[in-house]
Amino acid sequence: MALTETEALVLRTYNLAEADKIVVCLTRNSGLIRGVARGSRKIKSRFGAALEPFTLLHLTYYEKETQELVSLQHAEILKSHFGLFRDPQVLPALAYMGDLVVEFSPPHQSNDKLFRMITACLEALVQTPQHLQSILRYFEIWILRLEGFLPDLRSCAECQAALSSEKTVQVNRELELLCRSCAQGIDEVLSKGAYARLCATQKETPIIFAEQTRNASPQIQTEIAELTNRMIGRVLERRPRIQPAFYSAPGRPATSGK
Ligand SMILES: [Zn+2]
Repeated sequence: MALTETEALVLRTYNLAEADKIVVCLTRNSGLIRGVARGSRKIKSRFGAALEPFTLLHLTYYEKETQELVSLQHAEILKSHFGLFRDPQVLPALAYMGDLVVEFSPPHQSNDKLFRMITACLEALVQTPQHLQSILRYFEIWILRLEGFLPDLRSCAECQAALSSEKTVQVNRELELLCRSCAQGIDEVLSKGAYARLCATQKETPIIFAEQTRNASPQIQTEIAELTNRMIGRVLERRPRIQPAFYSAPGRPATSGK
């Protein structure tokens, strides 16, 4: 049995038997893991409140090569994001982010960039929860990119000509970006504003991206939301579960759908 120590972010937990929980975590060193926290449902558990979703932990666990489930030994809270749970709009968004990580990330594959991106998005939510929708867009675009599903934003998928927000950029059925000469009549035109914001995700931190996107029109924000939603839907071959949260125009409360 190997003992591993790593930073970890709790994504979900499930009850197991009478006193235990299964905990799904994204770890910095080993990617997505599922572990058993023995006794964690007892009142005097050594895990305390550490296993609440979206808590950042210093985690110690045992791993056997032949078993998928690791055995959690010790969890020390580095940062609790419990304050976020008070916001009824943020809660379904967090669940959605956790779902996407579980769906997109192969188990036991470390991805330091993914770990840092998610913790940066959580920090952005703590600081500017009013920019929830833009932070979600940033998260979606980056998880698509880091798992290899984001189409090339810089060059045409057909002729590789450089794309820019000065020229017309179109989107084909496969959701690839094309220059005007390669696009067919049915390919949608991406607005200059939406294209510029998509590209901005690659240069800006989530907090700056959200701040800058605030100045974009509601149409542009909806356009980006619909595009990322379709990209993710295409990858998952189903629509994301919390779909209505994506179409809420700025200022309008998001509803959590089933
Ligand atoms: Zn082209």
